Amino acid sequence: MRAIVSLVLVICLVTSGASAQTVALPAGQTGDAYFQESARQVRTALAEVPNTGRARNVIIFVGDGMGLSTVVASRIFEGQQRGVDGESNSLVFERFPYVALSKTYSDDMQVTDSAAGITAIMSGVKTGNGVVGLTKAAVRKDCASARGAMALSLAEMAKASGRSAGVVTNTRLTHATPAGAYAHTPHRDWEGSQDMSAEVIAAGCVDIARQLVEAAPAVRMDVALGGGRSRFLPAGAGGKRTDGRDLPREWRDTGGPGALYVQTAAELAAAPVSPSTRVLGLFAEDHMPFEIERVAPGSTAPSLAQMTLKAIDVLSQNPEGYVLLVEGGRIDHASHLGLARRTLTETVAFAEAVKAALGAVDLEDTLVIVTADHSHGLVLSGYADRNAPVLGIAGDEGSRVVGLDGKPYTTLMFATGPGGPDGATGRSDPSTTDTSDPDYRQVAAVGLRSAAHSGEDVVIYATGPQAYLFRGVVDETYTFHVARRALGLDGAPAPATVRKSGKRRLWPF
Ligand SMILES: [Zn+2]
Repeated sequence: MRAIVSLVLVICLVTSGASAQTVALPAGQTGDAYFQESARQVRTALAEVPNTGRARNVIIFVGDGMGLSTVVASRIFEGQQRGVDGESNSLVFERFPYVALSKTYSDDMQVTDSAAGITAIMSGVKTGNGVVGLTKAAVRKDCASARGAMALSLAEMAKASGRSAGVVTNTRLTHATPAGAYAHTPHRDWEGSQDMSAEVIAAGCVDIARQLVEAAPAVRMDVALGGGRSRFLPAGAGGKRTDGRDLPREWRDTGGPGALYVQTAAELAAAPVSPSTRVLGLFAEDHMPFEIERVAPGSTAPSLAQMTLKAIDVLSQNPEGYVLLVEGGRIDHASHLGLARRTLTETVAFAEAVKAALGAVDLEDTLVIVTADHSHGLVLSGYADRNAPVLGIAGDEGSRVVGLDGKPYTTLMFATGPGGPDGATGRSDPSTTDTSDPDYRQVAAVGLRSAAHSGEDVVIYATGPQAYLFRGVVDETYTFHVARRALGLDGAPAPATVRKSGKRRLWPF
């Protein structure tokens, strides 16, 4: 066989011209659909002209805990839900033309938490786990150490440069990732006054909810949408604050004539939009519901896509541009619980928000970045047949793969989490239960009440001005620096003005 291949090569080389060498390939090879599609993609890549212009706007989407295996499982799930081939399916951001790998370790730990992760992404510095918006000079839970450790976020820099800024999440607005847009604290858990001791308050630390509302106008968010009323309202008035303060009222009282507070999807949709609009939306007492419950009858919570679109609508009122941070935060929560169907459903909802944004912006002047702050221990393994349900059991009926304990196992499993052994019971047989149920808990190797994050690199997907700078294996802090450069805020000679040369948005086209 090797001799035949060599003979074919020799014939082809001999008959080729020196400047346009080609090797004839068998018809069965060139007729393969994947062969043809990838060849087309290479031709498309060759024609790509990087956008080296200035970004008016930057939108950063963070899928919290959205590791690469979560993206792969979600693309398969999303395709299978639509009745198309899942394995070759792509979530919308997987069609962005530029990607890089991001190392996610924090200043003090191999595996980061969301606080240090978002600080790296939004402020360009590595800090310790648990710390938001402060450099590594800050020590967790140490108020005094925060002084002099300030690190400004891209959202605050946008405001300081005359742009607008906003933050959208489906967690509490005071949770670590959204806090990375506007807060600076040595302890991510100090979300409301109820989370702080009298000593901490006396030491001068301000809770995260107050930081959102009390920020100086020069850096204050124009749009803040998410959950977490418990941190904004006093006990007895829909919240659990211990200082009696009604922060939504303060938002309205201090935010100018266009300051609004909304609590439902309908109120958000009806909120008027003008250059003076400033919207605080709190759609749940705690985190917003998982997508599976959010779409159930009786729910009044908006989708991540609806919140993203409203935020863009409001922020676009400023002709100078904006920076928007959007977090799909419940991807992480589902994986902490070991509930893979919810992880995938949340990731699909996150992709829907990206898709909605792409339809509302001009990618010639808007840099869109999709990334994760860290991974989770979700794995996809076990040789299931093509098109087998990704939430099902590895291997088909005819070639069932069983473990050494004689039981089959699911394609998706977790490294750690509540699906792990607790010392009392062995592994259950997944063929005796519905493994696609939203509350089916995948097996984990080690039992933990809440699954641990994982430390491998995550992907940065980018499109728009300066997106071509995303390449190679970079640190999590790199995103900040590309965005800062694209916005023209790094002091370097300004890139060419906004390019208006085409409409190409996704790749391969
Ligand atoms: Zn987490």
